[in-house]
Amino acid sequence: MKLPYAEPFRIKVVEPLRTSTKEERAKWIEDAHFNLFNLRSEQVFIDLLTDSGTGSMSSHQWAEMMLGDESYAGASSFYKLKETIEELLGFPYMLPTHQGRAAENVLFSAIIGKDGTGKVVPGNSHFDTTKGHIEFRNARAIDCTIDEAFDTTIDHPFKGNIDLEKLEKVFKQYDRENIPMCIITVTCNTSGGQPVSMQNIKDVSALCKKYGITVIFDAARFAENAYFIKIREEGYQDKTIKEIVREMFSHVDGCTMSAKKDGIVNMGGFIGLNSKELYEKASVFNIVFEGYLTYGGMTGRDMGALAVGLKEATEYDYLEQRVGQVAYLGRMLRDYGIPVQEPFGGHAIFVDAKRFLTKVPKEEFIAQTLGVELYIEGGVRGVEIGTLLADRDPDTRENRYPDLELLRLAIGRRLYTDSHMEYIAAALKNVYDRRDEITKGLKIVKEAPIMRHFTVELERA
Ligand SMILES: *Cc1c(COP(=O)(O)O)cnc(C)c1O
Repeated sequence: MKLPYAEPFRIKVVEPLRTSTKEERAKWIEDAHFNLFNLRSEQVFIDLLTDSGTGSMSSHQWAEMMLGDESYAGASSFYKLKETIEELLGFPYMLPTHQGRAAENVLFSAIIGKDGTGKVVPGNSHFDTTKGHIEFRNARAIDCTIDEAFDTTIDHPFKGNIDLEKLEKVFKQYDRENIPMCIITVTCNTSGGQPVSMQNIKDVSALCKKYGITVIFDAARFAENAYFIKIREEGYQDKTIKEIVREMFSHVDGCTMSAKKDGIVNMGGFIGLNSKELYEKASVFNIVFEGYLTYGGMTGRDMGALAVGLKEATEYDYLEQRVGQVAYLGRMLRDYGIPVQEPFGGHAIFVDAKRFLTKVPKEEFIAQTLGVELYIEGGVRGVEIGTLLADRDPDTRENRYPDLELLRLAIGRRLYTDSHMEYIAAALKNVYDRRDEITKGLKIVKEAPIMRHFTVELERA
C-alpha cells in the first residue's frame, strides 16, 4: 500500500505543556473577561491562536544561530539570506525588515507615497495589515477575488484566484498613475489559506503588464501555495517545489514577506525586488523605519536562521506533512459531522460557528462563544474570525455582522503531533455533542475604539 506521510523530523528538545482541569479553565477564562488573548500561555494546553512566529526551528537553524554575524554593516548572515532569496525566489535586490507589516510599510512608502488619496490597490482579499498600510496612506484596497471564494459549500481548488474581469474593470476605471500596484497574496490568508493557481498568477501578470502595473506578491505562505499547485494543477506533478516557487516569482516584480510564516522563524521579514530603481527608493525608508540595509530590524543570527528556514520550507516532505496535518484535523472534524470550511486551507481549519451553535443569537458573538467553549472543554485556544473582529462601522458605530462567523484553528509549523490533532478533534466533538445546551453567548462590557478584538472585555449574556 501507499505509505502515509510521517513527520519528516524527530524531536530533540521538548517543551513541556501544562495540563489543567475544566474547573480551572472556567475560572481562568472568566478572569480573562472571556477574551482568549488575555490568557497566559501556561493556561493553554494546545495553542492554535496563530501560525505566525510559532513554528519550531530545526537543528540546522539553531546551528546557524551560533554562526550569526552581528556586524552592523556587511554581516555574512545578511549575505547568506540575500543569496538564498536570489537563488530561491530570483530577486537580485532584498531588504530585511523586522516582520511582514514592516516590509509593507517600507515598500508602500516607496510605491504609494505619503498621500495616496485617489489611488487604489487591487488584489485578492488583502490581509489586515496590508489593507491597513494602504488605507493609512489614504489609498483604497479593492478586492478582486473570484466569487467562489465566498461560498463555503463550493469546492474549488484555487479559491485564492483573482477574477480577471474584476481586475480589468479596475484598470479601466482608474488612471494608470492611480494604480501603484496589484497585490497577489499567496496563499490568501483572509479567504482561509486558499491557494492561487500558476495559471492565474500568469494571467494576472500578463494583464498587469498590458496596463503597465507593478505586480507584488504578499508572499507569507508562498511555499504552501507552491505545494497546492504541485498537487492540484495540471502539469506540475513532476516539478519540484523549488522549481514551482521559481516559476511563481518569475511572474512578479517584487514581494513583501512575513518570515514568521513560511520562513519558519519566530520573527523577521523582507522585501524582494527586481528593480534597482525601486530598491533604491525603498532603501531610504528602510533606513528610516527599520535599520541599516544589511540588517533592517533583524539580528545576524535571525537572518541566518531565516536563510535555512526558507530552504527547509520549500522541501516537498516538509510541506506534505505540514499541509497533510492540517487536512488530517479537517477530515476528523468533518467525519464527526462538525461544519468546517472546505477545501481545507494550508495553515488552518475554519469551523463554521453559525452552523455549529445554531441557538446562540448573532448579537451574542457566536464564534467567540464557541472559542470559549472549546477552551473550557480541552484547553485548546483558537481565534474568532467573526463579529468581534469585524468591529463597528466607523460612521454609524453599529456592529458589523460578517457573512461568516468562524473559529480559526491555526496550526504551527512542526509544532504539534498528530496526537494533538486527535485531542483537538475530540475536544471539539464533545462541545458539538452538547451544542443544543449552548443557547447563550457573550456581551461586551468594555471595548477599544478600533481593533477591539485584542482587548475587548466580555461577560456571559
Ligand atoms: C502575517 C501576514 C502579514 C503581516 O506579517 P507580520 O509578520 O505579522 O507583520 C501580511 N500578510 C499576510 C498574508 C500575512 O499572513
